[in-house]
Amino acid sequence: MAEKFVLSPLAKKTCEHCPLKRSRFVRKQVPTEVYPLRGKGRMADVMFIAEAPGRVENETGRPFIGGTGKILRQLVHRINDGTQRGVAYGNIVRCRPVDEDDVFKDRPPTKRERDSCKRNILRDVMKINPSYIVLLGKSAAVGLAYDRVTGEPVDPKAKVFNLRGKEYIVKTPDGREFPAIITFHFAFISRMPNMAGVFEEDIRRAFFRSRGLISDYSERGKPTVVVDTVPRVRSLLKHMATKLGPDDVVALALHRLRWLDRDQTTGGPSPWPTCP
Ligand code: SF4
Repeated sequence: MAEKFVLSPLAKKTCEHCPLKRSRFVRKQVPTEVYPLRGKGRMADVMFIAEAPGRVENETGRPFIGGTGKILRQLVHRINDGTQRGVAYGNIVRCRPVDEDDVFKDRPPTKRERDSCKRNILRDVMKINPSYIVLLGKSAAVGLAYDRVTGEPVDPKAKVFNLRGKEYIVKTPDGREFPAIITFHFAFISRMPNMAGVFEEDIRRAFFRSRGLISDYSERGKPTVVVDTVPRVRSLLKHMATKLGPDDVVALALHRLRWLDRDQTTGGPSPWPTCP
């Protein structure tokens, strides 16, 4: 398990005018969690931002560890070569918003709650300096995303279904702009399992984009398998030996061979030939 850091554990100044400060049901603020990279000038390749903590997160003080949050963590683990390293998890609102009439029911944060807490997550973005941000669900999208071309905030009435599929920017107070995409919240995916494939494609593309393997998120339509680590090359060779017939054609993009300079599992020298 990669080492993790909690950023800015307690917010105080931002809470003064926030309705959630007075909520009886908030036990803990849930700060951003990051599994840092070393020596790259940034703490994470990909940063996930969702809307707010749920019941389990409220009780434990950790983001994305409730039943549905685990779905995303497991998916990331699978896509990110079996580790959480280089990944950050946070919410646009740090305290759990609940329905006052039914304390077991989570609700989306209001605009006032989002605006009160936004400064915390933007400060975390500046510290983490991620290559790519994934905004999960509508609250994170309308609270943080701006159109990449016009610079306008996204339409608060638009549905996530219509917002996904292109790239946006997240602007931080120090004037920087971070590339971002909008996709579904993982709680939605747990209710609509038929959308799991689309969700997984979005997350994969975010990782590919953060590593420069695709130049734009909207590049789509080509069924591509990226073989960029030694374990993946081994698994490809195994697959080729067992599954391919004599007439199947395999194209190898050899310009990616520089990825094999180091064994990304052990960190030691690669057993494969390196680029000339
Ligand atoms: S949601 Fe954010 S601003 Fe509001 S009380 Fe919690 S930490 Fe403070």
